[in-house]
Amino acid sequence: MFKISKEHSVYSMSPKNEPVLYVPVNAQIEFETCDCFENQIKSASDSFGGLDWSRINPATGPVYINGAEPGDILSVKIDKIEVDNNGVMVAGKDMGPLGHLMERHTIKIVPIENDTAIFSEKIRLPLNKMIGVIGVAPKDSEIACGVPDYHGGNMDCKEITEGAVLHLPVNVPGALLALGDLHAVMADGEICICGVEVAGKVTVTVDIIKNKPLPSPMLFSDTHIMTIASHEDLDEAVNMALLHMAEYLRSESAMPLDEVAMLMSLAAQVRICQVVDPKKTIRVEFPKDLLS
Ligand code: CA
Ligand code: ZN
Repeated sequence: MFKISKEHSVYSMSPKNEPVLYVPVNAQIEFETCDCFENQIKSASDSFGGLDWSRINPATGPVYINGAEPGDILSVKIDKIEVDNNGVMVAGKDMGPLGHLMERHTIKIVPIENDTAIFSEKIRLPLNKMIGVIGVAPKDSEIACGVPDYHGGNMDCKEITEGAVLHLPVNVPGALLALGDLHAVMADGEICICGVEVAGKVTVTVDIIKNKPLPSPMLFSDTHIMTIASHEDLDEAVNMALLHMAEYLRSESAMPLDEVAMLMSLAAQVRICQVVDPKKTIRVEFPKDLLS
């Protein structure tokens, strides 16, 4: 197995990033990751104003996958997500849809024990470990790790979890895969701008599907096919994810568009991933068994 330590990180996904590792197809890679604050927060009494905001959302990598060429799909199977014993959250002024109601900023340390997050003495939540930031280099210019787009990035999609397979469009030779920003717990929406942010390790297996252009990320779980789209405007993101799903279902079945639309109206769930990043992210989920 290949390993990359958390010191090898980037703050943007860019065709200009130097690969830290070259791997063949079917390689298994373990990424060690910082939390989205680059592990700057150690206790609830740390100064929020003292945070260095230039060190936010580091992604470990990038990894060059030998043989990946523009026009291919990079397939990333999430084998394992391990999280540290303490997560961190922040809430406060101007952060998320409730931010205008708050004056101060608050930091909370969330201990993690036995697959449970201890939110308070009375409130414990089961973990839903997920990867917030995962993506490849975009075509030409760089995109900050905090921004989700067609290349992946900060999608904050809670279905990017153990067992899922993420498809990303390869835009540059080698794809340049990087990931970070693990969450131990997060709900759809991510409304206070964070989940239980946590450092940890992610193990993935990479593969390439040759000559199959992909407009934006797709995700495959045991039960569902998902299209993921991000846009400043939530309505636009919904339309993009629906269009992508309709195109996919048409290409995988013999159904005409009106039939596809009717079936999607019955069985495709439109879900929100997050509404707090520079672009908002939608996923559309379609049950696998209806296609087989
Ligand atoms: Ca995030
Ligand atoms: Zn995060």
